Amino acid sequence: MRYTATLPGCDIDLSDNTNLWGSPPAVKRVLSDLDGCAFSRYPSAYSDDLKRALARYAGVDPSMIVVGCGSDDVLDSAIRSLAAPGGTLAQLDPSFTMIASFAAVSGLSVIGISPASADMASAFADSNADLIYLCSPNNPTGTVCSRDLIERVIAGGRGYVIIDEAYAEFAGASSIGVLQVRDNVLVTRTMSKAFGLAGFRIGYAVGSPDLIDRVEAARGPYKVTTVSERVALAVLEEDMEWVAGTTRAAVANRRRFAAELSAAGHSPLESEANFVLVPVADAASIARKLRACGIAVRCFARLAGIGDAVRISIGPWPMMERCLNAFSAAQS
Ligand SMILES: *Cc1c(COP(=O)(O)O)cnc(C)c1O
Repeated sequence: MRYTATLPGCDIDLSDNTNLWGSPPAVKRVLSDLDGCAFSRYPSAYSDDLKRALARYAGVDPSMIVVGCGSDDVLDSAIRSLAAPGGTLAQLDPSFTMIASFAAVSGLSVIGISPASADMASAFADSNADLIYLCSPNNPTGTVCSRDLIERVIAGGRGYVIIDEAYAEFAGASSIGVLQVRDNVLVTRTMSKAFGLAGFRIGYAVGSPDLIDRVEAARGPYKVTTVSERVALAVLEEDMEWVAGTTRAAVANRRRFAAELSAAGHSPLESEANFVLVPVADAASIARKLRACGIAVRCFARLAGIGDAVRISIGPWPMMERCLNAFSAAQS
């Protein structure tokens, strides 16, 4: 199934959790001086310079990094390389919608695990899945998996575990530490959310060198363009304060936004990402009304255990204030 992105023509797009403060300053500088880039040649086959910079950022050896055309590409390559057609993938329900498509195209059936299970780790182990996908903080709920749950899922499963940390910067917590002792775990990350570089399509994963080799073989060469690699290197080198600053602002505004929603009688889920999920009676109708006010949100119908909900990305406060006003008007 093709992914439906937000239609153009809204003033404020709170639908895809990208960085609403924009892109880091190094982007303009790099793009204004591309002399010396040999554009008739292929980029680096596996982006070794970028691997080194990301390894420094993640605190691991470069042999433990694979980069890709967004973390979607890394996730797709990982799913293709770590489970054979006819196999199974277990994930929380609800979780990141792309995973079911990648699994389907790879010939895997998906087993949904309820986050309300009395013992989630046992539910994952009992699924006997070839591949387990955990997303923490989870998209679309924003909730984090506890360290204890992650440890028990890794210890209890018979296959590989992918931990998607697209929003780790906002939670201030990561599972990369558990990798020092496990070789069946892959942690995926992205520069599309906290780093403000979604348009450059840069994702990566951290895992044991053997696992990284397998994912990279499935991924193939030349996935990150010459320009994207340059931009990512410059941002990692020069703009970490910008990234940290907009991340702090997103976390502060998320707390304030959730508090205002709660005060207005709504029950946003406890989020540790740069978005909140708000259960509503009729998500399509709320999304339509917000859209009429120029605001795009992501609309979910009948989520397991939650019902209808809208997912709202967090940005600078004036955007959030406009969203709050439109949201309360849309209820009536
Ligand atoms: C946004 C997102 C990604 C993918 O991001 P890329 O732009 O492909 O790097 C991966 N996982 C989750 C949970 C996301 O929300």
